[in-house]
Amino acid sequence: MRLSLFPRRKFKTVTEITPEALRALGVELLILDVDNTIAPYKTLTLEKPVVDWAEGLKRAGIVLYIVSNNKGRRPEVFAALLDIPFIKRAGKPSPRGVREALARTGVAPERAALAGDQIYTDTIAANLAGVQMLLVEPIKFTNIFLAIRYFLELPFRREKRDQ
Ligand SMILES: [Mg+2]
Repeated sequence: MRLSLFPRRKFKTVTEITPEALRALGVELLILDVDNTIAPYKTLTLEKPVVDWAEGLKRAGIVLYIVSNNKGRRPEVFAALLDIPFIKRAGKPSPRGVREALARTGVAPERAALAGDQIYTDTIAANLAGVQMLLVEPIKFTNIFLAIRYFLELPFRREKRDQ
């Protein structure tokens, strides 16, 4: 599609992304970032509200798919916990992983969204793949570099509805 650094919608946390919100956007596939989107860095567990949220989306007929740049065990651990498929080492901002999830599920890009916490990886990848970017606030700044990156993202952390 095109290079844009602006998300389609903003939410505080993933749990605010309700089936109703997704229905309003015409979304049937929700692609999930892992780090600082569904769990803080380094943890190997998911908070109960996140698990309940994911189960609620699945019950509502939304297909979930993890697409993470993480190279470790976390993508598969969380995918197993939620019983959903995953792609790791996705290389975002490259749209490759997002496109792979679209291909494997057979969902058209405009019927898909990516929930993620970052501009320079998640948002660029989503926009390049033509899926709707749903930006969430990072769960926790576990080091100073994450805080600096967040500061550098601020000009783009607003909704741009005309894309
Ligand atoms: Mg992330």
